[in-house]
Amino acid sequence: MRHRRTDVVVIGAGPAGLGAALALGERAIVLDEAGEVGGLAHAIDVGGASFDLGGHSFHTPHRAVRDLVYGALPMEERPRDAWCLVGGDYVPYPFQKHFDRLSDAAVVAACRDGLASARDTARAGDFDAYLDARFGAGIASAFMKPYNRKLWGDDLARMSASWAAERVAAPAGVHERFATDGGRRTPLQDDTVVAYPARGGYGEIFVALARRVARLELGKAVAAIDPGARTCTTRDGSLYAWDELVSTMPLTRLVHCVAGAPASLKASVGRLEALPVTLAMVAIDGPLATPRQRVYSSDDALPGHKLVLNANSSAWLASRERQGIQLEISGPALARCGGGDLKVRVVEALAECGVIDRPGRVAEARTLTLPLGYPVPTHSRPAIVAEAKRWLRAHGIHTLGRFGEWDYINADEALHRGLAWRGGPPEATAS
Ligand SMILES: Cc1cc2nc3c(=O)[nH]c(=O)nc-3n(C[C@H](O)[C@H](O)[C@H](O)COP(=O)(O)OP(=O)(O)OC[C@H]3O[C@@H](n4cnc5c(N)ncnc54)[C@H](O)[C@@H]3O)c2cc1C
Repeated sequence: MRHRRTDVVVIGAGPAGLGAALALGERAIVLDEAGEVGGLAHAIDVGGASFDLGGHSFHTPHRAVRDLVYGALPMEERPRDAWCLVGGDYVPYPFQKHFDRLSDAAVVAACRDGLASARDTARAGDFDAYLDARFGAGIASAFMKPYNRKLWGDDLARMSASWAAERVAAPAGVHERFATDGGRRTPLQDDTVVAYPARGGYGEIFVALARRVARLELGKAVAAIDPGARTCTTRDGSLYAWDELVSTMPLTRLVHCVAGAPASLKASVGRLEALPVTLAMVAIDGPLATPRQRVYSSDDALPGHKLVLNANSSAWLASRERQGIQLEISGPALARCGGGDLKVRVVEALAECGVIDRPGRVAEARTLTLPLGYPVPTHSRPAIVAEAKRWLRAHGIHTLGRFGEWDYINADEALHRGLAWRGGPPEATAS
């Protein structure tokens, strides 16, 4: 058996793992089971068009992350051209600031009246109540609830409202500044400028950063971790001895890899909830018929909750012969699609909604399902993750990242958390 020693083993070469590796330098070996870096933020080619695994764009409140990324590769900035599709109308994003563009005057009046009586959100104990309290019943029922139910499922009350301040924009009449510094994510606005690699897909960011990582081994799936011996073993039989281990693999999987993890901990992390996302990817003979980048859809006319028109993210993507149109279809949205061939449904819907002018331009259509797409911010999530982190830390193991911490974060935040991780003395081993 191949045997190597290192101060720190980092599991995963996605944004969080690469961040930790860059912070640790020669002290760390990074292992990833995939054949490429970037994790959920890597890009793929379908039918000659470039696709990310869901719509990705770069924006960050962490100055150091921005400097690192902009120093690693050329990035192209553009104002975000995002829309909401509501009852057949296209309304600029965010809906709560532009509902007066709806064609139905009665719905506009209901949105306005509801907003006038919207209350403080302080007492909203869950996401469902938050939407009513923040926006009023009109906006909540015209778009915010149908859209969020399509994305997260019908029971919005199972989710806490704590994440909404970072992700859900304020309504019309409330001034909000989009922060590019200060460390705290703020909601995207209608005039937010976002960035994208000037050449290639979103994953180019992580390909560029990985070139700076001293010790990286791909195709290495960690299958077992022995915290007593401070070793981990990969599926191909390599053994690594470590002083500390940083894992960015999903927490549920990590706990099952660790020898001696209590059954109660396994049961507890088993209660964490995630949504799968099916990506319907359609490569067309370019150019796209619209300058839009994103469409958020509460309408069942468009299967999926989010339409991603990636060619409008950079001049390089727009110059390609084949361009990608992608629908993100979360698990609950997929359940509404019914049977039949999803690819055919998607192409028909794109033509009906005016996203492609002629079905004949479709060169290839493919679907791909990410079993773990969105970590659901349920009420019990923080306590479950805190308990798991405590037990793991006491055994020299640190868990980081989107599914490592089961936290609804973007690639920039995952990178930041990796960069900020410096290790430290493990807590006393629990008996
Ligand atoms: C639909 C969707 C849209 C998104 N939109 C955006 C966006 O617009 N902007 C943005 O910045 N971010 C976006 N994100 C989020 C971004 O992709 C993630 O936050 C980021 O990739 C998380 O990084 P991570 O390192 O925590 O985890 P991951 O990217 O999941 O990386 C974990 C790595 O661990 C590896 N691994 C797992 N198990 C093992 C094992 N046992 N052994 C070895 N290796 C293992 C995996 O192969 C993977 O490479 C989006 C994500 C999704 C799903």
